[in-house]
Amino acid sequence: MTELRPTIVWLRNDLRLHDHEPLHRAVATGAPTCIVYCVDPRQFATLQFDAPKTGAFRARFLLESLADLRQSARALGGDVVVRVGEPEQVLAAIARELNAGVVYYHAEVASEEQRVERAVMRALEPLQVQTQAFWGHTLVHRDDLPFRVNNLPDVFTQYRKRVEATPNIRSALPAPASLHCVTIEAGELPTLASLGLDEPALDPRTTMVFRGGEQAALARLAAWMWEADRLRTYKVTRNFMLHADDSSKLSPWLALGCLSPRRVYEEVQRYERVRVRNEDTAWLIFELHWRDYFRFIAAKWGDRLFHAGGLNDLRFPWRGLTSQKAQDEFAAWQEGRTGFPLVDAAMRELAATGFTSNRARQNVASFLTRVLGIDWRLGASWFESCLIDYDVASNWANWAYVAGVGNDARGFRFFNVHKQAVDYDPNGDYARHWLPELAALRGARAYRPDTLTSDEQARFGVVLGTDYPRPIVDMFRSAEHNAEKYKVAVSKLPAPRFS
Ligand SMILES: Cc1cc2nc3c(=O)[nH]c(=O)nc-3n(C[C@H](O)[C@H](O)[C@H](O)COP(=O)(O)OP(=O)(O)OC[C@H]3O[C@@H](n4cnc5c(N)ncnc54)[C@H](O)[C@@H]3O)c2cc1C
Repeated sequence: MTELRPTIVWLRNDLRLHDHEPLHRAVATGAPTCIVYCVDPRQFATLQFDAPKTGAFRARFLLESLADLRQSARALGGDVVVRVGEPEQVLAAIARELNAGVVYYHAEVASEEQRVERAVMRALEPLQVQTQAFWGHTLVHRDDLPFRVNNLPDVFTQYRKRVEATPNIRSALPAPASLHCVTIEAGELPTLASLGLDEPALDPRTTMVFRGGEQAALARLAAWMWEADRLRTYKVTRNFMLHADDSSKLSPWLALGCLSPRRVYEEVQRYERVRVRNEDTAWLIFELHWRDYFRFIAAKWGDRLFHAGGLNDLRFPWRGLTSQKAQDEFAAWQEGRTGFPLVDAAMRELAATGFTSNRARQNVASFLTRVLGIDWRLGASWFESCLIDYDVASNWANWAYVAGVGNDARGFRFFNVHKQAVDYDPNGDYARHWLPELAALRGARAYRPDTLTSDEQARFGVVLGTDYPRPIVDMFRSAEHNAEKYKVAVSKLPAPRFS
């Protein structure tokens, strides 16, 4: 009998054993497998404002996830091969060494990732190694959408209604029972230092410590949904910003693929059977549909997701970092020194932990783009560097959406950060938690230090301009000014492309 040529499973943002179609198919062929992850140095390059493209929190999460997957694979008799290098070079070298027949992998949607896929194909072609891409990441499989991705509705509600009208979520695939892997040097996992990063310090104010890996993902799902029983109140609590269990906090594991959304879906169904079925349980699925939708947006619009004008090529005159004033304002936003406590608390939390809530993200993105009028792509890049749950589609499409250049761009909308703060944190706890200089301010007053009289400033030990910044901008006037500019830009759009 002729020996089957080995199958390479190229891991990307799918660091799990459960519900992993490339791995599942590879095991089913009966050929020996080689499971490979390439730590691509391009992902650790430096961005324009001197920040690493992959910051230390996400890098550490990645290394933990790889270590966890390797341990699980070894327990099944296999292994995970890790190499530092560009996938096109690493995979070609391994394919040559093993005389591999095919490389299986999950397709990505954004241009950078697709360029890598094409480079891999080019490198493997002369070696007569086939490639096969599978669709993963989403709750609804691309092939089960009731329309082609090119005809994706521009409004989320329309998308969701059509998808929900034809319920077709595939079952999560089981993890393999055992692995039959080729013998090859497994390779050492890189260290943070070898990637040019420092070990991030644990800020004592951190409310949620994320540990990478499939085991930690499944443990979080069980702890939040079942032990803490938080799904039953999720729809309201998800908007709060301070506590770990306010929302699921599954995003880092979903982003790196340690957890499959179909697995989450099945767990929600089980919860609905065993505990309760209500609008809160439905809301978690609703959010997973948003996640899908943004991925399909990225697939539909390709490179335009990264253009200043976004999906509709809207010519809003974004401020770049060309003037000292814009540089100072951008730095104040990054560092949490704007004089707007909700923005400052969120930006300091992001820098200190690699995470901030959805409510906080919407507010800081709106503040940067709608109030300061600064190029939304600078904010998206900063998030890319900082976020532990960075996902190319979710990040860039959310930013474009808030900046008014994404899908469903319905006029100029901006978040009044004073009102948002009171609506979602009426006691001011979140502000005091991240802004110690405001610790003496009671209740929602913590969100309005700018209204303190001189006497009050002295009494509460918050001297504006010394202990805490004065607001760097007149929020309403600036937003109004930008609204005018936005109106002009919209009026210049060719009619049929703007919905
Ligand atoms: C400017 C901006 C940038 C963002 N960047 C990212 C990013 O890089 N990666 C990322 O995963 N999410 C991103 N989000 C979406 C959202 O903020 C996070 O998914 C959410 O805060 C994660 O917390 P959670 O897991 O507790 O969410 P939950 O409320 O528990 O939601 C459950 C899951 O649904 C998904 N989800 C929820 N809201 C959204 C949304 N608006 N868009 C897409 N998916 C969503 C996430 O996978 C999340 O884990 C961004 C939002 C904004 C406004």
